[in-house]
Amino acid sequence: MKKVMILGSTGSVGTKALDVAEHLGYEITAISANTNIKLLEKQIEKSHPALVACTDDTAARELKFGLNNKTEFFTGASGLQDMIREADFDICINAIVGMAGTVPSIEVIKRGKTLALANKECIVTAGEILFDLAEETGSEIISVDSEHSAIFQCLQDKIPNKPSRIILTASGGPFFGKTAKELENVTAKKALRHPNWSMGAKITIDSATLMNKGLEIMEAVRLFGVPEGKTEVIIHRESIIHSMVEFEDFSILAQLSVPDMKIPIQYALTYPKRYPSSSKKLDLTKIGKLSFFRPDEKTFKSMRLCRDALKEGGTAPTILNAANEVAVEMFLKGKIGFLKIADIVEEALNKTVTLFNPTIEDIIQTDNDIRQKLLI
Ligand code: MG
Repeated sequence: MKKVMILGSTGSVGTKALDVAEHLGYEITAISANTNIKLLEKQIEKSHPALVACTDDTAARELKFGLNNKTEFFTGASGLQDMIREADFDICINAIVGMAGTVPSIEVIKRGKTLALANKECIVTAGEILFDLAEETGSEIISVDSEHSAIFQCLQDKIPNKPSRIILTASGGPFFGKTAKELENVTAKKALRHPNWSMGAKITIDSATLMNKGLEIMEAVRLFGVPEGKTEVIIHRESIIHSMVEFEDFSILAQLSVPDMKIPIQYALTYPKRYPSSSKKLDLTKIGKLSFFRPDEKTFKSMRLCRDALKEGGTAPTILNAANEVAVEMFLKGKIGFLKIADIVEEALNKTVTLFNPTIEDIIQTDNDIRQKLLI
């Protein structure tokens, strides 16, 4: 029985991670959330974690009041770091949304434990630092992202064969096939209606702009050590093939399943073993056919911006990510139009000087600077 810590336990991946851990009979030793106190309380009651962190100070004050004294409680971003340093766990699922997940990932790696990553932003912004540190401490990093879990599964070959191409699949989101003109006035409500996956708001908007796929290109390059030019994205509307790997002999391996995050979450938790799943079985005859298209990178320019930032290196991915996080929030609040999201990211990349070989402090500083500039 493994001991599991779940960061971001009240989010879309966090709640599914708790279900999977319970299904496997694993022990939940620590959980953290930001503002969703009601759900966090329920989770504490159900899973009895010894340690709990709440990063939002106001929410934390509310929660602390009703807690029993068997639970050790941590408050704020620094409290979360303290909890990670103290917790007893074999594997941590980091399902925190956005850049806020970066420092917690570093703390987990410092402990030398397995890090199951649903937070791609930390790999995008500080990938090199994370992997260097993991090599020092012996920590293993496994992606929970469905595409990267698929690629990881396809690479579990006895003889290490280098992939010649990584093919990331993308559902295309709710606006597949739309022209720029048609996208001018789309609302957040429409953008939040993803055809296949049920996810949190930030990643659903990232899927609609295809920024999510751009971030996933960056994630794949860092995770699997393939050059950027050997990554390709194809639109696959049904979200059944979660990604593919091509080898020198032009054989392509793919991983297929119903679109349910419980499957990659469970694989990360039980790796290298597989156990029965609580998810649904894939019935291909019910699906009938699988379709594939080339992405429209002119209308959806986020992917090109991600490739540019990746080639530039240094703090460029951090600049891109911070600008995107702010722009998505502005769009969700109805302050900017849909197409403006990518414009803001492009402008931030063009106007900000890249710092090369950044330390983690440089990365955090860059992230803060961009947020402040854009929020004025
Ligand atoms: Mg994904």
